[in-house]
Amino acid sequence: MQRRQRNVKILATLGPASNTPEMVDKLFETGVDVFRINMSHTDHDGLAEIHGVLRDMEATKGRPIAILVDLQGPKLRIGKFEKGDVKLKAGARFRLDLDKTPGDKTRVQLPHPEIFAAVSHGATLLLDDGRIRLKVDAVGADHIETDVIVGGTLSNKKGVNVPDTPLPLVSLSAKDRADLDRALDLGVDWIAISFVQRPADVAETKKIVSGRAGVMAKIEKPAALDHLQEIIELSDAIMVARGDLGVELPVEQVPIWQKRMVYAARRAGRPVVVATQMLESMISSPMPTRAEVSDVSNAIYEGADAVMLSAESAAGKYPLEAVGMMNRIAETVEADPAYRVGIDMQRTEPEPTTADAMMAAAHSVTETIGVASIVCYTTSGSTGLRASRERPNVPILAFTPVPATARRLSIAWGVHCVLTEDAKDFDDMVGRACRIARREGFASEGERIVVSAGLPFGTPGATNMLRIARVGRDDNLSS
Ligand code: PGA
Ligand code: MN
Repeated sequence: MQRRQRNVKILATLGPASNTPEMVDKLFETGVDVFRINMSHTDHDGLAEIHGVLRDMEATKGRPIAILVDLQGPKLRIGKFEKGDVKLKAGARFRLDLDKTPGDKTRVQLPHPEIFAAVSHGATLLLDDGRIRLKVDAVGADHIETDVIVGGTLSNKKGVNVPDTPLPLVSLSAKDRADLDRALDLGVDWIAISFVQRPADVAETKKIVSGRAGVMAKIEKPAALDHLQEIIELSDAIMVARGDLGVELPVEQVPIWQKRMVYAARRAGRPVVVATQMLESMISSPMPTRAEVSDVSNAIYEGADAVMLSAESAAGKYPLEAVGMMNRIAETVEADPAYRVGIDMQRTEPEPTTADAMMAAAHSVTETIGVASIVCYTTSGSTGLRASRERPNVPILAFTPVPATARRLSIAWGVHCVLTEDAKDFDDMVGRACRIARREGFASEGERIVVSAGLPFGTPGATNMLRIARVGRDDNLSS
C-alpha cells in the first residue's frame, strides 16, 4: 500500500453498508485509518464477527489498523402513546410521569425517576433530537409538569435530552458494561464513552479498562464543557460529538466549542476527533454539499487528529465515495501553505519532561535543516503522542514492537506506525530507521532523518537520545 499523503486521520463507522470483508478492504485502501463500531446498533455476535474481519484484513495489509468501539451510554427515552403519537401545541401543558399507561396529548411515561429528582422549575427538556422543547413548571417525586415551548408530533420511545441539568446517571449502563467487557475480551484498541458529564465518568471507565484500550471521551453534554480541561487530561482522546452536542447546546455554539476542544486537546497532547454530519448529504448523494466540504476542511485547518464518518459509511449509499472525498479534502487542505501557518500559530510549548524536550528538539531540527521525517522508537506510544503534539512539518514514523501500541497510535495526527523490534544497539537503531523510512516511502537516498530512542534500548518512557542520520544507498531494504 502507498503511504498516506496526509497528517489528519480518517475514522469510518461500520454498519450494514460496509461491514463485509470486501468493503472494509476497500475502505482501508481508500483511506480509512480507524474503524468505528457503534454499539447502539451492534450485538455481541456482530461485534466479534466484524472484529475478526478487521484483524484478518490487517494481517493481509501488514499495517496496523485501529478498532474503536463506541458505547451507547445512558439514553433517556419516553414511553408509548395510545395512538402511537400525539401533536403537542406550543402553549399547552404536558406532564411526564412514571405511569406505564399509554400516553395522550396531556401526559406520557418517562421511566427515569432520576430526572424528576434532578430538574427544577425553569429547566428545559428536549425531545426527539431537540425538535420538541418543554419547560419545567412544577416537579414532584413521580412527575413533572411542563409548558410546551416548541411543539410538534411526538411519537413512541423518543429520546429525551436534559441540557442544563447535570444528571446523577452512571456513565456506563448495564448494557454498556457488558459491551465493554466483550470489547476488551476481543482486544479492541479504543473505547469511546457517550454522554460524559464529569471527570469521574472517565475515571470510572479508565479503571475498568485499565490500560487494555485507549479511552475516548465523547463530549456531547454541556456539563462536560464545564470540566473540559480535567476531562481531557483524564482521557486518552476526545471526540467532538456534534450530534448530541448540537441538541443540548444552541447549535450556533457548536463551532465555537469545536475550536476550543480541538485547541485544548492539542495542547494536552490528546488525539481529538471531529465527528458527525461531516458529509451527511453523501448518505444519499455521490457528491457532498459545498458547506460540508468546507466543514471537513475547517476541522483539518484547526489541526484535529481525525475526522469521522458516521451514517455516511455505516448506512449510506456511498461509503467509498465519502472516504475518497475526505481523503481528497485532506490532501488538498494540507498542501495549502496557509494550513502550515495555521498549525504553527497554535503551536504548543513543550512541557518540562524529557519526552517533550526531545520531541521539540526533533521538530526544531526538521525546521533548521530540512529532514525528510522523524523516526521515534516508542514502546508504550507516549513518545509517539508527544511527537504528534508537536505537529511537526514532516511525517512521524512511530516504531514499536507492541501491536496494541501501533494500532492505538494510528489515530494520532501525522503518525505512521510500524511494527518492528526494539533496536538492539546504536547501529541497529540508525540502520533500521533509515531502511524502514526508505522502504515505506518516508525518505529517499541521500535525505536525512531524525531518530529518537531511549537508552538503555527498549526501556519504556526513556526517550533520551536524538540522532540525525543520512539515508544511504546501500541500506538493505529487505530487512
Ligand atoms: P452518536 O455520537 O452518533 O453515538 O450519538 C456522536 C454524536 O453525538 O455526535
Ligand atoms: Mn452522541
